[in-house]
Amino acid sequence: MISVETALEIILSEIKPLGMERINILSTLGRVLGEDISAYIDNPPWDNSAMDGYAVRTIDTKGASKDRPIILQVIEDLPAGYTAKKTIKKGETIRIMTGAPIPKGADAVVMVENTEKSAGGGQKSEVKIFKEAKAGDNIRRGGEDFKKGDIVLTKGMVIRPAEIGMLAAVGKSNVYAYQKPQVAVLSTGDELVEIEETPISGKIINSNSYAISAQIMECGAIPIQLGVARDNKKDLQEKLEFGLTADCIISSGGVSVGDFDFVKDVLKEMGSEMRFWKVAMKPGKPLAFGVIGGKPAFGLPGNPISSMVAFEQFARPAILKMTGREDIFKRAFTAILTKSINKKPGRMHFVRAVLEDKKGQLYATPLEGQGAGILSSMVKANCLIILPEDAKDVKKGSKIKVHILDQSLLYQDKPGY
Ligand code: AMP
Ligand code: MG
Repeated sequence: MISVETALEIILSEIKPLGMERINILSTLGRVLGEDISAYIDNPPWDNSAMDGYAVRTIDTKGASKDRPIILQVIEDLPAGYTAKKTIKKGETIRIMTGAPIPKGADAVVMVENTEKSAGGGQKSEVKIFKEAKAGDNIRRGGEDFKKGDIVLTKGMVIRPAEIGMLAAVGKSNVYAYQKPQVAVLSTGDELVEIEETPISGKIINSNSYAISAQIMECGAIPIQLGVARDNKKDLQEKLEFGLTADCIISSGGVSVGDFDFVKDVLKEMGSEMRFWKVAMKPGKPLAFGVIGGKPAFGLPGNPISSMVAFEQFARPAILKMTGREDIFKRAFTAILTKSINKKPGRMHFVRAVLEDKKGQLYATPLEGQGAGILSSMVKANCLIILPEDAKDVKKGSKIKVHILDQSLLYQDKPGY
């Protein structure tokens, strides 16, 4: 048996990021940016008003207060999206809206709350200023966000809504991003029927193809379902060959003691330098891995939880690496175990559990039903407790590591302030 770490190391040494494609920025969400992005303009492009109010010369507002307001002549109205036609001179002001460029002559903006329109004589428009302004008040400086020529995003960043906003802000509608891997998914077994069929006389529904496809989608990759290969060489070979059009192949089943030689042999006949291991983990012990025609191929175990857990440990980081990401490993959080777990040393255990945050402390409660075929406990789980290979029985109250399974822990049924 080899350790989880060793198997992972060998697998990752065979995986390279895919190529790039130039795509619309909205299609880049969750993908990895393939180029450095520089700004061709300052942002904001010029000094502008942070408030609705009056653009003033601070010198004209000296000594202004609620009791002794200073009256200024309003010479222009300036909405956002326009530039002032006039220059502000002594005793003058321009009514300005948030975002409008600061007019010539002004060195501050007095917010509208500190002013009051006053009648003024004849055609004149006047405003009372109740507060002395300091130079720069309520002015957003040109270039304070970024300057022309600045690198605002770098190759390798994972693109989130903020990055898409930034791409738009610097005038990019299309950019280079890493391709999404296409991952072929094959289930193997004479016992498998499709969802629509009724499983009778020894048959079971093929659920792995769906769970694994969903895991692939979670990684930002595209599953290509190859269906079920029957337990004969010919069918397996045909289906796997079709899978070679994808960037990666993942099969489930047919790698356990009873029939593992069979899957290994077929993959080998297809020209792959196959590695077959018993990995020191539970669940998920048998694992086949190889590279066929440059395409990585994973033979995951057939039991539903074994395949999902083995996917998490090996296929997820591999697929993420193909997407161009560098942060490909799940972060491990420390939690307190609420129930003792019996364990013999020798294998790394992945225990389905519920993780809770109680007053800033994480607690992990292992679920009933840890069998490799028990999907219902996987449904209840939001994390996997990781018990190291050499660990023995782990007592309640011990500090343990967990991998969070999905986004469910990010959400709750009431606002979380
Ligand atoms: P195997 O590794 O092929 O010996 O499969 C082990 C067990 O996993 C089988 O007896 C099935 O109960 C189950 N199994 C295998 N493939 C699937 C599948 N695609 N969907 C659901 N269960 C499966
Ligand atoms: Mg089988």
